[in-house]
Amino acid sequence: MVHDGNCIFCKIVAGESPCSKVYEDDFVVCFMDIYPASRGHVLIATKEHFDDVVAISDGPIRAVGSATRKMARAINQTLAPDGISVVQANGTAAGQTVIHYHVHVLPRTTGVKLRLHGPRQAQKAELDEVSADLAGALDSD
Ligand code: AMP
Ligand code: ZN
Repeated sequence: MVHDGNCIFCKIVAGESPCSKVYEDDFVVCFMDIYPASRGHVLIATKEHFDDVVAISDGPIRAVGSATRKMARAINQTLAPDGISVVQANGTAAGQTVIHYHVHVLPRTTGVKLRLHGPRQAQKAELDEVSADLAGALDSD
């Protein structure tokens, strides 16, 4: 499995950097975005390092799809947002800031414009509270 020692998401996958984890399987880890654009903003990152959607292989991207559905259901059940956006950027021109494949799952509020990056870094305790709530609402399927 490819692991990039300079990549923040590879460090999170390896347990070398902290995260507020919601879920993991063989292919992905789901954790709270440290600069949340809204409460409940989750990232789904592959365990293996792929730069982007061009580089990722089939097994991992299938697992991302399945995890996306799990996260969306947990967000709906826990936070009951007006909507949920699923967004994924590829390349700096597209707004990608961490060059390790990941998907944003974003709770949305009616009338509030979409953005991927929040204005401030969240407190770890705050993120741990949301991740625990979401983890408690995961479907078994
Ligand atoms: P993107 O701009 O699509 O590449 O998104 C990268 C996201 O990763 C941003 O929303 C950052 O806030 C988030 N991020 C960066 N470092 C961390 C970290 N250590 N833990 C959680 N989220 C992070
Ligand atoms: Zn990486």
